[in-house]
Amino acid sequence: MTDRIWNFSAGPAVLPESVLEEARENLLSLGDTGVGICEHSHRGKPFVAVAEEAEALCRELAGIPDNYKVLFLQGGASTQFGMIPMNFLAKDQTADYLVTGSWSKKAVKEAKLFGNVHTVCSSEDKNFNYIPTDKTYSDSPRYVHFTSNNTIYGTQFASEPAGFSNEAFLVNDSSSDIFCRPIDVSKYGIIYAGAQKNLGPSGVTLVIIRDDLVEQGNSELTSMLQYRTHAASDSMYNTPPTFGIYLMMLVFRWIKANGGLAGMHERNKAKAGKLYEYLDSSSLFQPTADKASRSLMNVCFVTGDADKDAAFLKKADAEGFSALKGHRSVGGMRASIYNAFPSEGVDALISFMKDFEATA
Ligand code: PMP
Repeated sequence: MTDRIWNFSAGPAVLPESVLEEARENLLSLGDTGVGICEHSHRGKPFVAVAEEAEALCRELAGIPDNYKVLFLQGGASTQFGMIPMNFLAKDQTADYLVTGSWSKKAVKEAKLFGNVHTVCSSEDKNFNYIPTDKTYSDSPRYVHFTSNNTIYGTQFASEPAGFSNEAFLVNDSSSDIFCRPIDVSKYGIIYAGAQKNLGPSGVTLVIIRDDLVEQGNSELTSMLQYRTHAASDSMYNTPPTFGIYLMMLVFRWIKANGGLAGMHERNKAKAGKLYEYLDSSSLFQPTADKASRSLMNVCFVTGDADKDAAFLKKADAEGFSALKGHRSVGGMRASIYNAFPSEGVDALISFMKDFEATA
């Protein structure tokens, strides 16, 4: 087998090795069924048991109250950008958006197709390197949308936005930090996340949505774009992404075995903490995100010299540190260290960076 290298990809991203090993076995036969996981009918008992366990573990890990539905959808987080306003925003209504990166901007673009958008705050003036503290909400927004972790810029909200009308519900694109720390689901109307960073492979989107909102959604939309369709059929209205749901179930088991969301938070604080500590002490590398807004998941840094960045990336790649190149809109480097990224990989990176710094 090919040796695995340190994979800092922003997504699809590294998965726990034990999960991949178990999945490898089950590709040929799910348990003793004699049929591989990708070959089982989604309506058969073995897969239904997988889907039920995935939902039960998701509820247990995040303490999801009974008045919320857990849905496994397709189309990525990008489909949620449109599906949310399509369901909840009428032409004469306003939704409030916190603009903290290009994913937030993409969400805004979709919402504008359906109603009015009010910008609560924006950090675009500094290329999104911080989470704004000054916020101005509109008087009666239908909902308030934010992106809890900004994958490209390496910034993250320390806590949920607050202070808006209590008639509005809170929506979170949590694609790049879902389940990285404990979450109080009762503060939200909708939480959504593409699975491919913290939860599994691409192709499945987790949506946690409050029951009353499922009921309120626009009933004149095509069936697949109504939350009620998926809620009424336990995400099995059509063929769901069975392999993605299966892998997510294994990742949930892994999270549970590693201390749940509190365990993930400790792990993530320790991993990101040591990397930022080194960056703060380095005379070659500088972190790009504002200190108070730093992400536990995506650590962005530069040398300040494009040639040195390129030399670093080339050497890193040659030595088995892959996908460290920053997003093209920021440049430099980005180490994505989601839940499953091993602590030893962060140690190895720091040691490699120290050696590079010593010879640069
Ligand atoms: N939101 C955030 C914060 C993301 O990081 C991404 C993907 N990188 C998306 C949305 C888009 O997700 P998808 O590709 O699943 O549509």
